[in-house]
Amino acid sequence: MSVSMENNPLELGRPVTSKRKFKDLLLQKDNQCCADCNAAQPKWASANIGVFLCFKCYNVHRSLDDHISRVLPLGDEWSDDDIDAMVEVGGNSSANSIYESYIPEGYAKPSPDASQEERTKFIR
Ligand SMILES: [Zn+2]
Repeated sequence: MSVSMENNPLELGRPVTSKRKFKDLLLQKDNQCCADCNAAQPKWASANIGVFLCFKCYNVHRSLDDHISRVLPLGDEWSDDDIDAMVEVGGNSSANSIYESYIPEGYAKPSPDASQEERTKFIR
């Protein structure tokens, strides 16, 4: 006897729901700028950290291990797992409220024109 899919309608509709939520995330105001430096119109995102990133910050994230920050271009087709991870965090403001509580004293968020070095120091 096979297990009926009807027993779990939530599981059945999951990818569609997540994709819709992901589109909603993209439209949120806090996700219209880079999570790390506030530059406008981020074109990248870190799926597992759940933040939207500008090109410069993307380059720093890309230098980190894949399991620390999994960066993907927003224009690409994302896997369901990546979308789920992103939706679970909830975008820039929720991610920042999680990570910024861990910022050690003496560290400040970089500005959009911050140097690569300043960015790297902060993001790491
Ligand atoms: Zn940035």
